Amino acid sequence: MENKTNNKFTPLSTLGEFGLIDKLTKNLKILHKSTIKGIGDDAAVLDYGEKFIVLTTDILTEGVHFNLVYMPLKHLGYKAVVVNLSDIYAMNAYPRQITVSITISAKFSVEHIEELYQGIKFACDKYGVDLVGGDTTSSYTGLTISIAAIGEAAKNKVVYRSGAKENDLICVSGNLGGAYMGLQLLERERKLFEKGSVERPDFGDYNYILERQLKPEARKDIIEMFKETGIKPTSMIDISDGLSSELLHICKSSGIGCSVYQDKIPIDKETVIMAEEFHIPPLTAALNGGEDYELLFTVPLDTYDIISARPEVSIIGHISKQETGCRLIMSSGSEVEITAQGWNALKDQQ
Ligand code: ADP
Ligand code: MG
Repeated sequence: MENKTNNKFTPLSTLGEFGLIDKLTKNLKILHKSTIKGIGDDAAVLDYGEKFIVLTTDILTEGVHFNLVYMPLKHLGYKAVVVNLSDIYAMNAYPRQITVSITISAKFSVEHIEELYQGIKFACDKYGVDLVGGDTTSSYTGLTISIAAIGEAAKNKVVYRSGAKENDLICVSGNLGGAYMGLQLLERERKLFEKGSVERPDFGDYNYILERQLKPEARKDIIEMFKETGIKPTSMIDISDGLSSELLHICKSSGIGCSVYQDKIPIDKETVIMAEEFHIPPLTAALNGGEDYELLFTVPLDTYDIISARPEVSIIGHISKQETGCRLIMSSGSEVEITAQGWNALKDQQ
């Protein structure tokens, strides 16, 4: 760390999160046949017998991912579990166990951490996973929660980011942009309150977008729908960083292009109203706002009748040749290239 001034050191922001991960991991050798898929998907895929095991981990850091001024600890515990389970479902797998590791500073009491664990346990009950271990240590800077989740899937059911084919339908569950607009509302009220401009924060009746931000759910129901209907998506990813970023991940991994239609992107009424209040185009919130934890997936064209009948799924476009690039077709008919402006941990913090 001494030579900061002689330009030998590259700022993290020049690479961003994904660039850094690529750089750090590009020369890794896989030693075991049981490592079916290592880095580069929502979860690693491991072969330990009759089924595949899927494994993922995520960190939430105080001040970066959450602010305890408006994030109740119980919700935080719940969310920390859910974001991991979402990555397991994104592989078309079922989560079974989690481990929970926390760093805690002296500002927290036993009761605080118990509250956090109420949320963790609530999520475990709701999604049917066992908490089987973790680690606990102190920190100077606040709370960090790192959760790892393990899931299982029949070997022929696992879905990667890389299987999308030309003419496949591009689908998304639920609606997008709500969690981001919920965050904008929470942040606005926090700032007004901290400045002393208001006696207490006013969140109006925006319960839906607040819940999207504070207490998201993972789309277990979509995986169950695949089982029921016998549909196996050709590719899938969960939307943690924003639709644009996730579409580009699928396009890059699958070596294809896509056309997505503005009119088809599902956005809830409350998200639209709040976006307008902030003078943000609702489409921008849907494309670039993160943390919706919906599933983005592609299915073969011949599943159209089944998929289009599902109210919880929207068909937003189709897969095209790689040469056509990733395009967004606006309501006006004009076309724009999709670029990733989603949450990129190391670029945004600069
Ligand atoms: P997600 O948004 O689905 O959680 P990420 O974008 O965090 O996925 O990670 C992309 C891929 O990079 C995953 O396979 C993940 O396991 C891997 N990865 C992330 N950070 C690291 C790291 N520090 N070292 C090794 N692999 C990493
Ligand atoms: Mg993911």
